[in-house]
Amino acid sequence: MANSRSGQDEPAAPEAAPPVHDLGGGVRSVEVPIPDNPLGHTLVYVVDTDRGPVLVDTGWDDPGSWDVLTAGLAACGTAVGEVYGVVVTHHHPDHHGLSGRVREASGAWIALHAADAAIVRRTRETRPERWFTYMTAKLEAAGAPEEHVAPLRGGPRRRTSLPGLSPALPDREIVPGELLDLPGRRLRGVWTPGHTPGHVCLHLEEEHPARLAGRGRLFSGDHLLPGITPHVGLYEDPDDATVTDPLGDYLDSLERIGRLAPAEILPAHQHAFTDAPGRVRDLLAHHEERLTALHALLREPLTVWQVAVRMEWNRPWEQIPYGSRNIAVSEAEAHLRRLVKLGVVEPVAGSEPVAYVAVR
Ligand SMILES: [Zn+2]
Ligand SMILES: [Zn+2]
Repeated sequence: MANSRSGQDEPAAPEAAPPVHDLGGGVRSVEVPIPDNPLGHTLVYVVDTDRGPVLVDTGWDDPGSWDVLTAGLAACGTAVGEVYGVVVTHHHPDHHGLSGRVREASGAWIALHAADAAIVRRTRETRPERWFTYMTAKLEAAGAPEEHVAPLRGGPRRRTSLPGLSPALPDREIVPGELLDLPGRRLRGVWTPGHTPGHVCLHLEEEHPARLAGRGRLFSGDHLLPGITPHVGLYEDPDDATVTDPLGDYLDSLERIGRLAPAEILPAHQHAFTDAPGRVRDLLAHHEERLTALHALLREPLTVWQVAVRMEWNRPWEQIPYGSRNIAVSEAEAHLRRLVKLGVVEPVAGSEPVAYVAVR
């Protein structure tokens, strides 16, 4: 079923028809809105199995989003109470937000990769104050100016009830390389860390319904999107001082998906697309360019904050709002770590906050 909200030539279409797309071969998608977000919606996939529908992601935890999801399932000829299982690509609230509510309504299992399950557990156990202390220390170490750090001191001003503060604990683990419990279907977990440490893509190992060339279809979550680059920052963890390399992980994961060469990509935002290897090449080239530009900036020693201010973003630094600046700092540090790992940039000995400089 196509989205027919404009409906001028289709007087039969109901006014509030839920945005559902039939992708063939027992797979449909529902556009579940993300309130006040430029991304617009999460594509929740409904995969028919012999035991009832399995959802790939669930959408943002909001009453309006829930209504669209349940209406969408009805438009697919099923109901939320019939859902057999929920497979979650990663822990972000636009993907995992409604999983708990779907489980309550249906008794469905929820599956997530162990690394993102650990984040869910930590998020549920960590008091907001602890996050504020951690973020303050991180920003100070990055060389952020006092006027940026000051608002974080003293912790949250009021009790926040942001969605995602109490995400649902999964019942099952998505084990990389193993088939998931979808009776009558073949859906395999492919671990693609980078955007989050436990991000997975899900490979539907069945012939494409329109017989497009390539290997099956791939639910790509946020890993591979047709028109946007996913955020790759640090894997923030107040209890773990391991120096990870999320951008290195992401680039490796991109190559893995390129080699898989699925016939069609079913991403969690925007729209379905083909030529995964071409899209992978574009993204690899984009990050290569970004790393080269950053390397050139580091002819003089710069802190993480100074790097973030100088890097190219989708708008000038002065126009980037507070919260997005923190995300930019995290992304800048992920790029710096990659260059350090490649051996072309090093921290300046004794600098405080740490400055980085090109050594080759
Ligand atoms: Zn995400
Ligand atoms: Zn997303």
